Order: sequence, then C-alpha cells, then structure tokens
Amino acid sequence: MTNAKVTKRPEGSSESLEHEEAAAMKVATAVNKPQASVAGQPKPPPTAHPTFGMREIREVIPKECFERNTWTSMQYVLADLALVGMCGYAASHIEGSGLPLVAQWGLWVVYGICAGNFMTGLWVIAHECGHQAFSPHRWVNNTMGTILHSALLVPYHSWRVSHGNHHKYCCSIEDDEVFVRPDRAQAVGAAEIRLDHFARVAPTPRRHQPAASRTRNFAEVNLALEDSEEAKRCFSCGHCNQCDTCLVYCPEGIIGRQRPKPDATGESRNYAVDLAYCKGCGICVTECPRSGMEMVPT
Ligand code: SF4
Ligand code: SF4
Repeated sequence: MTNAKVTKRPEGSSESLEHEEAAAMKVATAVNKPQASVAGQPKPPPTAHPTFGMREIREVIPKECFERNTWTSMQYVLADLALVGMCGYAASHIEGSGLPLVAQWGLWVVYGICAGNFMTGLWVIAHECGHQAFSPHRWVNNTMGTILHSALLVPYHSWRVSHGNHHKYCCSIEDDEVFVRPDRAQAVGAAEIRLDHFARVAPTPRRHQPAASRTRNFAEVNLALEDSEEAKRCFSCGHCNQCDTCLVYCPEGIIGRQRPKPDATGESRNYAVDLAYCKGCGICVTECPRSGMEMVPT
C-alpha cells in the first residue's frame, strides 16, 4: 500500500548528473519545439573557454606588483599595532574621565569603530600571509600569519588552506568552499515539474554599464536586476507553495490544510492526508506542479 505525502526537499538540491542532464534534455526538447524563443530573451553567455591563461594574465601585470618585501610588510604590522595600542590607551581613560555616562557610551562606540578598523587591517595582513604575499620567505609568512590570526582568534593554517581552495575554485558551485554543495540525491529534475501549469515568462534582460562609460570609472560593469520580476520565473521545484492543486484534485477530498507546526519528526506540514481514507491513487502526486509530494509505502 502506498500513500500520498507532502514532501520537503532541501533548498538548492539537484539530481544525479546523468538523470538531470537526460531530464533537462527531454524537457528542453519538449519546451523548445513549439516555442523556440521568447520575446526579450537575452543572448546566452559565451560558454567557450577564454583564449588566454594565467600565464598571459601574469605577463601583462607590472612586475613590481609581484615584489614582496618583508621589511615594508613589517612596517604595516607595526603601524597597525601602534594604532590599536593608541586606541586601547585612549579607551583606558574613558571611565575615569568624569564625563556623563551617555558621553562615555558614545566614546566606547567610537573606540570600537576605530580599534575594529585597525584590527581588521591586521587581519588583512594575516590574510596576505596566507597568500604568501607578506614576504618572499614561506616561514616568515606562516609565522606572522599564525601570530596575527591567533591573536584575532582565527585558525591560521586551516583558514589558509580553505581560503586557497576558495580562490582556486572561485565561483564554482561544485568545488568552491563558500557554497554548500547541493544534495543531488534529493533533486527534483526538470522532467518532474508539470511545466504546463506555468506560463512562459521571458527572462529579465541583463543590465550592463554602457560601453562608453566603462573606461572612465571603476563602477561595476554588470549591474544587478532592478526588481524582483525574475523571481516570478522560479518553479519552486520540490517545494510546496500551497497552491492547493493536490487538495482540489484528490477524488476522496481527504487532503486538508493544516497549521504549519512541526510534527513528531520535527517537520512542519501545511497539508495533512487522512491516511485512513487514502486509496493510494496517486492523483495528488501526479498533479502537483512542482513535485512537492511523493508516494510512500505504509
Ligand atoms: S499541489 Fe500545490 S499544495 Fe499540493 S503539495 Fe504540490 S505545491 Fe503543495
Ligand atoms: S489523490 Fe487523494 S486518495 Fe489519491 S493518493 Fe492522493 S490523497 Fe490519496
């Protein structure tokens, strides 16, 4: 016996690559046949690899940008330490200053902002140590990085390694460590979404700074979207958004709305199926536009 169940899938989950690609191809074919293009659809970005590599990029950067000088770097450390010390010394006089309490609180805020800025400077210097940019000597970089980061309660070596991976795989959702890798086993493939329940909506055109002004300022060239229109194209795949379709289609009328409070498993539910009367026909699951339900054996 199987019964219907409203499921919750983790945000950003994706299916096994082979299945997803096959499903995407099938759906792309089905969708694109009758409507090959949508009005206003922007050109897809180029997918070809660039014709230059890291060596070519390094060759056009001035050589002095790669010069590392231990003494120059140490001067920045000493300057920051002196500034942090001056802030601390000044702050040690706040309580005995005789100023009204409100003024003392204000001075503590000023202290926090100033000292925080200079300590961030120290953190950034330690960050450069992690990139081996503080000194040409690896042992100097790692020693200084360990001292500075430890003083700021940052584990230097583990951060150095994970941050190095972040730069190595920058913007890769698969390998960059700043992203939580999606759980492919929990994915909703394109083939599982009832596309006929959704109206086709043209993508919001990308915005760019005009080519003529790009050479005159350092403003971002790729501009953000202006409003939330693009969000309307989201299928909410795998996530119940309370459209009531299952409730309407159930021939037994046994799906009811519920308050979203957690059940015994800690999962909150917006709908409840009266399992005593569910005949397991699966119509609710078939009709759910975004694959938010599944049949489970009972
Ligand atoms: S049909 Fe609608 S209400 Fe029912 S599970 Fe799917 S998304 Fe949720
Ligand atoms: S449509 Fe109704 S009877 Fe059929 S499986 Fe879903 S809940 Fe059960």
